[in-house]
Amino acid sequence: MDERLYFDWNATAPLRAEAREAVLRALEATGNASSVHGEGRAARALIETARAQVGQLVGAEAKNVTFTSGATEANMLALTPALETAGEKRPRDRLFVSAVEHPSVLCGGRFAADTVEQLPVTRDGVVDLNGLRGALARAERPLISVMLANNETGVIQPIADIAEIVHAANGLLHVDAVQAPGRIDCDIAALGADLMTISSHKLGGPQGAGALIRRGDIHIADPLIRGGGQERGLRGGTENVAAIVGFGATAAVAAKHADAQYMAALRDALEAGLKAATPQAVIFGDGARRLPNTTSFAVPGVKAETAIIAFDLNGIAVSSGSACSSGKVQASRVLVAMGVDPGLARGAVRVSLGWSTTAADVERFLGTWNKLAESLLKERRGIAA
Ligand code: PMP
Repeated sequence: MDERLYFDWNATAPLRAEAREAVLRALEATGNASSVHGEGRAARALIETARAQVGQLVGAEAKNVTFTSGATEANMLALTPALETAGEKRPRDRLFVSAVEHPSVLCGGRFAADTVEQLPVTRDGVVDLNGLRGALARAERPLISVMLANNETGVIQPIADIAEIVHAANGLLHVDAVQAPGRIDCDIAALGADLMTISSHKLGGPQGAGALIRRGDIHIADPLIRGGGQERGLRGGTENVAAIVGFGATAAVAAKHADAQYMAALRDALEAGLKAATPQAVIFGDGARRLPNTTSFAVPGVKAETAIIAFDLNGIAVSSGSACSSGKVQASRVLVAMGVDPGLARGAVRVSLGWSTTAADVERFLGTWNKLAESLLKERRGIAA
């Protein structure tokens, strides 16, 4: 039996060797980072090194990085009316989120439900800039949350253009950049983001650590977790030192994003092979700029669960829509927001690659697909007859 092939990197990436080593070293250390003795100061130093590494990944100063338990918590921390800037202390009055956001953003964070609106996207999954301008006219001090790259389709948003529109309307922009590091550039200043979320486990660090990064002059007046004053009062609770240290170590490697072109070549080969085997396959978002590692596709008449189970039985891990909603056989909200027919959307299979994927892996995937597609389509014809 061949080794298993892991093609679900957008759900979580394998732990990088550098992160594993750093985590193990940190687990050996004793000390609460809030203690003043040597052991405490050593734990503090580990956290501060990681903070600088995570800051560097997005071009931010370390002091503007707040560690959280992951991206979900960072999104919840960011999405609050109580965001103050030097020039504006009054609460933000409305939240606008794109219709293709992760559920942790779509839920509206800490805004009252009747102050949250969704922004439409085009058929390619890109935020409709005219729709954005129109929406912003309905608010005085809005907060806008748009992801840098979509976890299901890989579609990249024109964040710098969005930032310009948002700032001209007296708004602040939060960017969920979870899927971007190591794949595309995510410099916070170049993008024009005011707040940015990233997550350790999507870039090869341990699960259970994330960060909210802010522009220097933004103040969050209501922390999500109050307590012992950790993270400059923004996140109470003894820090998860090992996970934070692993996050820092993987950030230092991902910052080089040396694998992007390599992944894009593999992804292109994969899509060409898919199209050759099943010309009727639809690749979602392929008219837009996309992450170099992600393909979301469907073949009319083939159910996602059937395809995923068949891949799994052949030793290949792929996903339907996003991992966060797998288990439930519903049309992906992301694809429905892009105007995809719900029947076709229910067949969406997401394949996501990473730095250790090889050309031979892609070939094996395509060989399996050739075999499966034939039988899945035959099965369907059998049922229809
Ligand atoms: N945002 C995006 C775009 C994601 O893909 C995910 C993970 N599926 C999250 C947020 C949540 O990340 P975490 O698992 O760190 O809470």
